[in-house]
Amino acid sequence: MTTIKVAIDGPAGAGKSTIAKIVAKQLGFIYIDTGAMYRAVALKAIKNNINTKEANKICIILENIDINIKHDEDGQVVLLDGEDVTQAIRTPEVSVGASNVAAIPQVRIKLVELQRMLAAQNNVIMDGRDIGTYVLPDADIKIFLTASVEDRARRRYEEMKLKYSDCSFEQVKKDIEYRDKNDSSREFAPLKAAEDAVIIDTTNNDLEQSVAVVSNLIRERLM
Ligand code: C5P
Repeated sequence: MTTIKVAIDGPAGAGKSTIAKIVAKQLGFIYIDTGAMYRAVALKAIKNNINTKEANKICIILENIDINIKHDEDGQVVLLDGEDVTQAIRTPEVSVGASNVAAIPQVRIKLVELQRMLAAQNNVIMDGRDIGTYVLPDADIKIFLTASVEDRARRRYEEMKLKYSDCSFEQVKKDIEYRDKNDSSREFAPLKAAEDAVIIDTTNNDLEQSVAVVSNLIRERLM
């Protein structure tokens, strides 16, 4: 079976997941958030008191980890060793930990296998950092979504402050800058736009505008 694959990459807070979720629904495609898988690995490490930068220990965790992705009417559900961790992987600590474990090649190799399998079975919009460059180099459409760091931090802060009353804009911005640097400078499959990606800068766009730009682009290319 040939499936349609849309790759959306870009840094944290550019709006990838919110936009991809809406557009996937419009098109009847499955939305796959690959960041959630790196988050699940980080959560398992944190639960076991393992430093997310310690590659050797993270590799031991990998030998015995079961990450599963399901979909219900609210979207993607992430199961870690059989437990629903969809909410638990959204903490600031897990965000930074995910960026750390994502720099370990063995982690990427294991998760990319799952990502490619999902894309082979469904029409997908898959978001991440290396989807167009590494996971699905033959994707039908590649989009690189970006925005200024101020704008991305502001959006992320608006989301986070609803959940964590003690979070500050400065800390959210610092975490995003840390992840930008870490994700772009790692050796294996770093964050970067594929040569054939369409680059969309969402700075100063509201959500509706960004959804329209991405949705129109995909429709034009597919129809
Ligand atoms: O997309 P999200 O912010 O949930 O991703 C969490 C972290 O997972 C990112 O900062 C990045 O380090 C890593 N990641 C990755 N490759 C992907 C998706 C996420 O390295 N395809």
